[in-house]
Amino acid sequence: MIKIRNLNKTYNLGQPNALHVLKGIDLDVKAGEFLSIMGASGSGKSTLLNVIGILDNYDSGKYILDHTLVKNLSETASAELRNRKVGFIFQSFNLISYKNAMENVALPLYYNGVARKKRNAMAMEYLEKLGLGEHANHLPSELSGGQKQRVAIARALISRPSIILADEPTGALDTTTSREVMELMREVNKSEGITMLIVTHEGAVARATNRLIYLRDGIIEKDEVNANPVIEF
Ligand code: ADP
Ligand code: MG
Repeated sequence: MIKIRNLNKTYNLGQPNALHVLKGIDLDVKAGEFLSIMGASGSGKSTLLNVIGILDNYDSGKYILDHTLVKNLSETASAELRNRKVGFIFQSFNLISYKNAMENVALPLYYNGVARKKRNAMAMEYLEKLGLGEHANHLPSELSGGQKQRVAIARALISRPSIILADEPTGALDTTTSREVMELMREVNKSEGITMLIVTHEGAVARATNRLIYLRDGIIEKDEVNANPVIEF
């Protein structure tokens, strides 16, 4: 479902301070995979994730998502494709502070034109699935870090995307909560069959996934199957 060939990206292309961040990336991801991209800070993980999530452009090469070539799309076309295909989970949760848990989860459906009553009912369903039914009316400030990340996972799931992209999803969580969130993501991948790509600099997070890709200075150094995924926090 993802096919990337010889993809390059440079920040400030053509300027004296140009920074070549992605240097000829080749990557194939099949539907239903649970995989991670591991690498030191500054290796280009977030840049690659943003390209895959159609949040950012690239300079050369090819990126195909579900048979669609993602290249030189207009703002509107990128947004439309992104809303339909991609769910995001961020280290900092990115919840809207003045909206309650239910409204935050329902947001992607608002962008997809679903009527309020229906989107709120669906949001409740997902919150209940993730064990947060009783927190539906709480604002983000009234939730713990783990609860906030569960709301974000529900929000990522609700539009039934082809892929969920998680950028350092446990980066702001303590060990116990990190373990819970990783278990939940694994469970969601299994039960919903949604492809899940996690970017992390933490070995323990990567070792919980079924495939590990090592990114170093914008180059894929290693790409291996993890026959024995463990959650070892
Ligand atoms: P990682 O997520 O692995 O820490 P990033 O993809 O965020 O790495 O960053 C890779 C490199 O690109 C870093 O040197 C970073 O400073 C630089 N960079 C990231 N975003 C931008 C930007 N918008 N403009 C210029 N340089 C950037
Ligand atoms: Mg990053």
